[in-house]
Amino acid sequence: MKRDYYEILGVSKGASQDEIKKAYRKVAMQFHPDRNPGDKAAEEKFKEAAEAYEVLSDQDKRSQYDRFGHAGVNGNGRGFGGGQNMDDIFSQFGDIFGDDIFGNFFGGGGGGRRGGQRQRGVRGSNLRIKLKLTYEEIAKGVNKQIKVKKYVVCSTCSGSGAKDKNSTQTCGTCGGSGQVRKVTNTFLGQMQTVTTCPTCNGEGHVITAKCGSCKGEGRVYGEETVSIDIPAGVMEGMQLSVGGKGNAGERGGPPGDLIILIEEEQHKELHRDGLNVAYELHISFPDAAFGTNVEVPTIDGRAKIKIPAGTQSGKIFRLKGKGFPAVNSYEKGDQLIYVNVWTPQHLTSEEKAMLEKLSQSPNFQPQPDKTDKNFFDKVREMFS
Ligand SMILES: [Zn+2]
Ligand SMILES: [Zn+2]
Repeated sequence: MKRDYYEILGVSKGASQDEIKKAYRKVAMQFHPDRNPGDKAAEEKFKEAAEAYEVLSDQDKRSQYDRFGHAGVNGNGRGFGGGQNMDDIFSQFGDIFGDDIFGNFFGGGGGGRRGGQRQRGVRGSNLRIKLKLTYEEIAKGVNKQIKVKKYVVCSTCSGSGAKDKNSTQTCGTCGGSGQVRKVTNTFLGQMQTVTTCPTCNGEGHVITAKCGSCKGEGRVYGEETVSIDIPAGVMEGMQLSVGGKGNAGERGGPPGDLIILIEEEQHKELHRDGLNVAYELHISFPDAAFGTNVEVPTIDGRAKIKIPAGTQSGKIFRLKGKGFPAVNSYEKGDQLIYVNVWTPQHLTSEEKAMLEKLSQSPNFQPQPDKTDKNFFDKVREMFS
């Protein structure tokens, strides 16, 4: 059962072309194979979105679909409705989003072959890894040495895939150009198209005897330690791309990129909120009444703060500049300290008697400060 095209892109029936385009871009980015290597479900979603966009971006197809549903746009022999392969989808991106959108985002991956130029090998795929960082590492930036399991260039043949230098020869189909010309009849008349040579995959030469170590692939599955400088201020969900550190290409093709997905390790006491850090400080009732000095954890060691006499529960202290740095500016967040005055839950009869006596005093009656910010402003301040 096919899903509704509007639902796939998450737009309303009355969506404008611009909204449809934006929605498609979002969905395509989310399920792009470079971001989800080896994930079949994501690939299906990616294709599904391309199909939905193909129909909804075309006024004729869209009105057919609106009137007749899937039956209105399928089975007319035009090849849409699930007939697209991945290369078709990638080749359309340039037209839809302007040429290098995916190239820029993913270091040129996924675009596959562009045009019919002669090239060496096949580009390696991008690799995605997760990297967990502590608040302290994020606050200062960190260098990480990460062992990555991936395809590496075969050392026996240096990536060529050939047994030795005599075991490659010029491709007979294309004469070494890597391209073949094809004449096709279209309703506009005869058209000549240039495509990648199917015999040599555009490489211009073929291997007659394969390297024994890599079976002609030019790469083997192995491991590489990659050094990565993580800038200060990164956030959960951010992606960093390290050019050329993904899977090695086949037969000398360029390597893919290594894409690092940042994860934050939960801190025992501190909570990140954007650039700010929230901390809940519990103090005793006598400390709140008399005032005290306390030490609080920060993302950069410990800090001393003074709690003035008569501090109320709910008071927020701000440690300026003790939050996270922004990843691409000089801005810095603050640490917000939320004071919680502890109310005793168990009392001896002696303590009860003392408290009962104290509770008669007018000083123990709440006297809210009318000039103080109201509760919602305080909460807003805490999470700003
Ligand atoms: Zn080899
Ligand atoms: Zn060829």
